[in-house]
Amino acid sequence: HDEEAAAKAAAVNADTGAPTIFDKIIAKEIPSAIVYEDDKVLAFKDINPQAPVHVLVIPKFRDGLTELGKAEPRHEEILGQLLYAARIVAEKEGIVDGFRVVINSGASACQSVYHFHLHVIGGRQMKWPPG
Ligand code: C5P
Repeated sequence: HDEEAAAKAAAVNADTGAPTIFDKIIAKEIPSAIVYEDDKVLAFKDINPQAPVHVLVIPKFRDGLTELGKAEPRHEEILGQLLYAARIVAEKEGIVDGFRVVINSGASACQSVYHFHLHVIGGRQMKWPPG
């Protein structure tokens, strides 16, 4: 059953607010290839890159921002900082002339880590629409 499979996947990936693997990456308990870092933002290479450049940009303090669909007014500032950090990452990675920023929000968008993040993807020709 497609419906059953989708429900199972959603349950596995549910936004429970529990700590995620990104906490360990922020704490540097798990090594990552850091591309950019400041006091609020960390950007590191995705472990399973979907393009020659694939970097994740995350807030160091999740503050309830597990997914974009749960953003609150207090998150406006960090959301802007993360988007600007995406541009810095694109510049550093040499793709500022053409790149894609992706946010998966929720199980039906295939979000798998419930600590808000932007994907900065590039270094190859992108297709539209995305899957
Ligand atoms: O948008 P979504 O939640 O699916 O993206 C999570 C991303 O985190 C994936 O692209 C996955 O490859 C990446 N990841 C990572 N390092 C980990 C766990 C997941 O780069 N240890």
